[in-house]
Amino acid sequence: MTTIEATGVEVAGVRVDTRHFIDGLRVASSDTFRNTSPVDGSFLGDISRGGQAEVDLAVQAARDAFPAWAALTPAQRGAILHRIADLVEVRIEQFAIVETMDNGALLRSHLRGVMPRVAHNLRFFADYAINDLGHPDFETRGHNNHVTWDPSGVAALITPWNAPLMLATWKIAPALAAGDTVVLKPAEWTPLTASLFAELTVEAGLPAGVFNVVNGYGNQAGAALVAHPGLSRISFTGSVPTAKSIARAAADNLTPCSFELGGKSPFIVLGDADLELAASLAVEQYDNAGQVCLSGTRILVHESIADAFAAAFAKKAGELRQGDPRDLQTDIGPQVHQTHFDRIKGFVDRAAAEGADIVMGGEPNAELGGLYFRPTLVKQPAVDSEIVTQEVFGPVLTMQTFATDDDVVALANGTEFGLAAVVVSGNRDHANTITKQLVAGTIWVNCFFVRDLRAPFGGSRKSGVGREGGTWSFDFYADVKNTVVSPHGWKE
Ligand code: NAD
Repeated sequence: MTTIEATGVEVAGVRVDTRHFIDGLRVASSDTFRNTSPVDGSFLGDISRGGQAEVDLAVQAARDAFPAWAALTPAQRGAILHRIADLVEVRIEQFAIVETMDNGALLRSHLRGVMPRVAHNLRFFADYAINDLGHPDFETRGHNNHVTWDPSGVAALITPWNAPLMLATWKIAPALAAGDTVVLKPAEWTPLTASLFAELTVEAGLPAGVFNVVNGYGNQAGAALVAHPGLSRISFTGSVPTAKSIARAAADNLTPCSFELGGKSPFIVLGDADLELAASLAVEQYDNAGQVCLSGTRILVHESIADAFAAAFAKKAGELRQGDPRDLQTDIGPQVHQTHFDRIKGFVDRAAAEGADIVMGGEPNAELGGLYFRPTLVKQPAVDSEIVTQEVFGPVLTMQTFATDDDVVALANGTEFGLAAVVVSGNRDHANTITKQLVAGTIWVNCFFVRDLRAPFGGSRKSGVGREGGTWSFDFYADVKNTVVSPHGWKE
């Protein structure tokens, strides 16, 4: 990685500006923070480290840009979002390799799934605002009720590092399509693709100030942003403790918040399940080195098939290839950062110290070194142990057995989270009996990670507040307004 000048770096041959993007311009800070690659530990660049001053500038720019952006029609805004999507599609390879170097996720996934989804996020919400957003008028004693979704102001978007640009555009697209302007604070471990994205917005003709990026630490730039009185919305994806602190900051201004938080989702294998399917889906829970909020990390398997399932799982898990995420054959790459790697190792080491039965992995991959942690399986841990109740957010699964449907429902619902669940069953009625009783925002039956942007997405309990996706996104980002028109008093 070579530094071109103080304002940018070259990452795998792609130039990335390391400054903020405010009011259509690059703005540097005197402070910076180091960004290194989890792939090989290489230095990626010194990133401008924002605080109150940069946040104030960005929110003001977004407020100034709001009236003109809000005054455009959904079709006019949508045309620009489609142009940005076109540009993302042209540069998918650049976005993919930069994201891989920054967060360590598989290049294969970025090329085939994640970056196409970035473009799809933009196109979907642009088209939804044009074609699908609406509610049939209804009458009250001859009066007509007409519901509209009006732009609300400046949306602050705070995003995590596990799928940086995909999760950012999942928020940017509906916010902009709704007519809001945006200030994005990307995660400090993965700031690069947000900067590349900002370049495209200029090329696509997005007016200055409509989209802004402030880089920096959560407790500095992030905290200043969410406490700002000039916001109309805060959309946050990240951890529960951060959400609590954002909620406290937002309370002073009563800024509405949408929270997409962590999970500890159950992966339920009923006694009538297709074992091959169950084992394949279970191994998918290691995707992105286990750094997926939706992962079904708690495998709950019926005791009658537990041994057969464990054997099928071990066979499939044994086929996983861990290695450099740039290699298209690799299935599991590194963890995102040393701090996070240490956190995962801490969970596993404490489980081992408590006598847990670690039947696979359980340690760093010594051959690869660096931030590569072996895919791990902990068998029959205590129901109330931290490895079962707390989010590890790494390649660590637990496996517990159950005897009855009541048992598995109690186990499945037995944490403070409620983000997702996977149920594998050979019988529709049986699956249905279970899914009805689960507390989760999304349940997959005999499948995993089938996502449709029309669907509501979010978590119950501590896994989130509110839902985004389809109309739910617009319900959040827009001011929903009902206009009641009387049949009386008209002079024409
Ligand atoms: P995190 O909460 O540490 O950080 C997320 C973002 O919040 C970062 O940009 C960070 O800088 C910022 N931040 C930190 N402190 C802040 C503060 N006081 N004020 C404002 N912003 C602040 O989370 P993380 O470690 O980056 O992400 C992992 C977590 O995200 C996991 O819990 C995971 O389950 C969750 N997640 C949830 C979803 C979902 O859709 N439900 C998706 C992906 C990740």
